[in-house]
Amino acid sequence: MGAKRLDGKALGLKIEARLAERVAALKDAGVEPHLAVVLAGNDPASHVYVRNKQRACERCGIKSTRIDLPNDVSQDQLMQVVMDLNADDSVHGILVQSPTPTGTDELEITAAINPAKDVDGFHPVNLGRLVMGQTDGLLPCTPAGVMQMLNDAEIDLVGKKAVVIGRSRIVGMPLALLLAQKGIDATVTIAHSRTEDIADICRSADLVVAAVGRPATVKADWIKPGATVIDVGINRVADESRENGSRLAGDVEPAAAEVAGHITPVPGGVGPMTISMLMTNTVRAAEANF
Ligand code: NAP
Repeated sequence: MGAKRLDGKALGLKIEARLAERVAALKDAGVEPHLAVVLAGNDPASHVYVRNKQRACERCGIKSTRIDLPNDVSQDQLMQVVMDLNADDSVHGILVQSPTPTGTDELEITAAINPAKDVDGFHPVNLGRLVMGQTDGLLPCTPAGVMQMLNDAEIDLVGKKAVVIGRSRIVGMPLALLLAQKGIDATVTIAHSRTEDIADICRSADLVVAAVGRPATVKADWIKPGATVIDVGINRVADESRENGSRLAGDVEPAAAEVAGHITPVPGGVGPMTISMLMTNTVRAAEANF
């Protein structure tokens, strides 16, 4: 029997519909939630991501402002834009689209954002709160989206074995912390490019999360029958049958769907959830500011 597909697109839209009600209440009280998105350079994927985020803002009734900067923007110029947005009381959320152009320091830019407006959840203060077990603040969007999907599917992780493949600052590491937090109570293994016997580690897991960035890294025979598989990866792979010669693929081999109990599709899985969590953070930031 095939795995149940966890539909991130449908869940994301449901979350956004609930957010629209909170946005309306804020507007009634005279506050217009406002997200500022800084897009520096001409990375085509970044342009697509930003457009999708702006569309989500429209669905929720959130005001969005896009600040376009050239590819040769300097670190000082980018920092100044962030400072100006920090000082602008009408802006509740600031997002600087990653990657920033070569020669700029993304970590320094992230750290310059007012933590109360850090709707990406990457500021050291917000990541630090997460390490301290405080999960009621601005959480990194992709890990928060994964947790929402698991919760919505009523997947009980208490005492269960979870493997997170990937240890990045934006996905793998914060997600491992969220899975291990009190109340969720998974027993978490963090795997990465230097992990030995990764297939065996996965085979013992009730939950496998792939956040690697390489197509079909996780094989079907790594999955324990009935396990939950969350595929965070977004990879562009060649596909001659498509008009543009390519398509999106996850980090998990498609045949894993024949073994798993639950699995997220790519596209339509974690991606839309990430955006709905960005909207959630923006509304939270506006409510906290109110
Ligand atoms: P990243 O910063 O490049 O991290 C990748 C992680 O994978 C690293 O920890 C790396 O290990 C590990 N890794 C690489 N090759 C491996 C292998 N063969 N076996 C095991 N581990 C391996 O990437 P990221 O930013 O976390 O993103 C990961 C993927 O998620 C990408 O495809 C990205 O596009 C996607 N993503 C999706 C969303 C969404 O909304 N769906 C959001 C963000 C990212 P080392 O640490 O040892 O190098």
